[in-house]
Formats: sequence, C-alpha cells, structure tokens
Amino acid sequence: MVDQIRNFINGEYVDGVGTFDDINPVDGSLAAQVHTADKGVVDRAVKAARDALNGPWGSMSTPERVAILRRIADRIEERFDDLLAAEIRDTGKPVELAKTLDVYRASANFRSFTDTAASAGLDAFITEPANGSNALMYAVRKPLGVVGVIVPWNLPLLLLTWKVAPALATGNTVVVKPSEETPASAALLGEIMAEAGLPDGVYNVVHGYGDTGALITTHPDVDGVTFTGESKTGSAIQKAVSDRVLPVSFELGGKNAALVFEDANIEETVAGLTHSLFTNSGQVCLCTERVYIQRPVFDEVVAGLKESAQKLKIGTPYEEGTQFGPLISAKHREKVHGYARLAKEHGAETIIGGEIPDMPEELAGGSWYTPTLWTGLEHTDQVMREEVFGPVAGLIPFDTEEEAVRMANDTEYGLASAIWTTNLERAHRVAPKMNVGLSWVNTWYLRDLRAPFGGSGLSGIGREGGVHSFDFYTEPVNVAIKLA
Ligand code: NAD
Repeated sequence: MVDQIRNFINGEYVDGVGTFDDINPVDGSLAAQVHTADKGVVDRAVKAARDALNGPWGSMSTPERVAILRRIADRIEERFDDLLAAEIRDTGKPVELAKTLDVYRASANFRSFTDTAASAGLDAFITEPANGSNALMYAVRKPLGVVGVIVPWNLPLLLLTWKVAPALATGNTVVVKPSEETPASAALLGEIMAEAGLPDGVYNVVHGYGDTGALITTHPDVDGVTFTGESKTGSAIQKAVSDRVLPVSFELGGKNAALVFEDANIEETVAGLTHSLFTNSGQVCLCTERVYIQRPVFDEVVAGLKESAQKLKIGTPYEEGTQFGPLISAKHREKVHGYARLAKEHGAETIIGGEIPDMPEELAGGSWYTPTLWTGLEHTDQVMREEVFGPVAGLIPFDTEEEAVRMANDTEYGLASAIWTTNLERAHRVAPKMNVGLSWVNTWYLRDLRAPFGGSGLSGIGREGGVHSFDFYTEPVNVAIKLA
C-alpha cells in the first residue's frame, strides 16, 4: 500500500479530490500519493483558519501562545528523525545536510521567533505640539489575520517554518501550500502541531500544484500572502492579489554573484565557493551562479574549483560521506541540462560536468546531474543572466574593482552576493555597494535569524527575520492619547 499524504484541516487529515504522485528523486520511485485540494477543500481550510482566529487562538495572550510555540519546537526535536526521513524521501538530499540545515532550522525558527515575540516592545512617542499640549502615541500590533503561505521544494521544512513560526507567534492563522514535489514534511508538521497543543484550525495544509496555490491567493477571506518561489510565480501572485490589494511578502529567485579579488586567501575562497555553488546540488536561492575572478588569480581559482568539484561525493542520502544528491525532479534536470546545452552553443568551455552521470542501475531512474563549471561565457550571455537553480556556474575574469562591482550589479535580481578578499578596506567599500539583500564577505550563508533576510528587484518584496517578519505579519494600530 503506497503512503497517502492528506490535507490537514482543523486538526485532522482529510481526503482531497483525487491524488497525484510524489516521486523520490533518488531513483524515480513512487514515494507517496498526495491528496489534491480543490476549491471545496481550500474553502474548508480557510474557514477553519478564520474560525480559529475568531476563537481561542485570537483571544490568547502572548505568553500563552509563546508557551505553545515552545512546545512545538520541543516536539519537532523529539520527532526529528521522522521529519528527517520525510524530507529526505521527498528531496533526496544528503542526510548530513538535511540534519544540519533543514530539520535543525525548523525548531530553530520556532525558538527564534518565539523569543522575539516574547520580548518585542511597542513603538511609543511623547508628542509635543507647539500649542503646549502633549500626547502619548503608541502602536499596538494586530495580527494580519488568515495568512496564505506558499512555499517551494528546495528547503521545504526550513522555508515553511520560517514563515509559519512568525505568523503564529504574532497571532495569525495559516493555510499552507507546500510544493507538489515535497508535501511530506508540511503534512507531518500538522500531527506535531496537534501533539504540541496548537488549537485546531490554526495550522492548515492543502496540497496541489499552482492552481491550488491560486485558490488561496484569490480567496476572498485570505488577508495576506507570503510566498517563496520563482520570480515569475511571484509576479502571477501579485496580479492575483491586486484587486484586493492584499499585503504580500515575496522571497524569490536570484542570480547571485561572487567576487574573488587577487588578494583573497585562495584556499579558503575555493572551499567557500564550492559550498556556495554546490550545496543542495545548487538548489538554494542563495547559491552562487556567477563567479567574477580577478585576472591574476583566475587560472588558480578555476583549477582549484575544478579539483574540489571533482572530489564531491555524489551519492544516495544515507550513504556515508555523500555530499551531493540528485536534482528535485526529471523535469528540473531537463531545465538545468537545457542551460548546459545553451552554454555550449554560446561557446562556453565546460571545465567540469554538464552531463547526466552514469549511475548504478537501481538509481538510473533518479534525477542525477554533475557539478558543472563553465568559462568563456560573456557576462551578458543568457546563461549568465537567468536563474538556472542547479549546480552550475560561469566563471568570468575581471581587471578592476569597479568592473567587478558593475558586472555583479548588472542583473534584474538582487538577492545575495559574496566577496572574497583579505583587504579590510576593500571589504567595507565593496560590500554595501552590492545591490542585494544579503552581502557576505569571506563567507556564504552565514545567518542570524534576527537579521533582515530578503532581496530586491526580481528577488522579492519585503524582509523577513526577527522583528522584520513581524512588520509583515502584523498591522500596527497607532493609539494617540491626549495627555494635557
Ligand atoms: P515555484 O514558483 O514554481 O513554486 C513555488 C510554490 O508556488 C509551489 O508550492 C507551487 O505549487 C506554487 N505555485 C505555482 N504557481 C502558482 C500560482 N500561480 N499561484 C499560487 N501558487 C503557485 O518555485 P519552485 O520551483 O518550487 O522553487 C524554486 C524557486 O524558489 C527558485 O526560483 C528559487 O530561487 C526560489 N527560492 C527563493 C528563496 C528566497 O528566500 N528568496 C528561497 C528558496 C527558493
């Protein structure tokens, strides 16, 4: 009997209308059948969320809510292995990565946003107009209401909890739609929420493709939409909510640059770049796909990257030492491979990869791909401008700092960048010049959950993290009291 993944509404699992297949990308086998939510199911989920908001959840004090959310974090840790198995079966990612990045961050997200909610203050001012009277102004934060949460497949649980934790910490209720590729961990989280004592209807999950997502974004009783995914989907959602002028928070795609200066520590740079190019098989929105290298160290960095890419251990998730898993699906691999073909047609030299690897027979149905590096592409080439979202990067030489900054910023995206240099003055000079939300120096993916996270341009709208998340998940009401 194949596992069934059902929608989670009002504290219980409910059938959908028909099912679709959840495929394990390691070998192409059927992982589960997922129950599709149609309009009726989405309506039920939104109603459950509205009732919970108008019910006990809406009238709970912050300390009461915080106590429940801390229990959710505890329960995630107690059920760590179950979540790990669900995440790995859907994504095929190496167990070490899923442990230290994905599942670890699920409880960390709940802890961090709970702490922020427990200690957050209010904006307050004493206002002294010219007529000598004075007044007290203070802004209270009210929950946005029923929030639609739509998330992608690359870090399913991490990205989901990054939104659900602050939404709940500020008193909202949610209707979540995980990616059709990775429904398992969001569904399992329903069980965990109930075990932790979250009232029914606060956390609801509906499954399906983009049309199910659209049923949420166009629903008349949804008060806001938080979305992580492709820029073009963000654009479609923005159109969908425009009639109702709903608030949105968007974390979208990127075409992230790294700048390697001649004064960089080359060994550390190569190690750092290997991480930023190939983590999660290049399927992290923050991954580097453009590397600009100062000419005197170009050959050395290219050779170093080739050597470290060659050493990456491609393998199944639970195999000892696996560093590099499959892509999420055969369809996504076709997209990535299409860019490899395009790069070749455009005159690129393939330093390594660009192909579907030979895997043992039992893995031949999986969506495996090789780490891939190109030189010889123009900075303006289509392959260097569009997000591929795979383990691929173009390496381009530069001569001056100005040229490097100009090329890095010459993009419609604005998510993340990394600068590699040992020159402190240069680091301080260049880092703020990057047109991105996240500008790293001599590191990549170094995060503090209280710091603002997000991008500009095609990379998103708004910032999440710490109180920045609360700016989206709450509506401030300014109270003005005349004192004298
Ligand atoms: P996607 O946009 O295809 O899908 C994301 C989610 O949106 C899925 O649940 C999907 O079913 C749903 N969806 C699709 N069409 C919809 C519509 N019209 N209305 C409502 N929902 C709809 O993205 P993906 O392929 O799952 O994820 C990869 C993308 O996510 C990449 O572009 C990556 O850069 C981006 N991403 C960004 C961040 C960030 O923090 N900026 C983080 C992770 C991933």
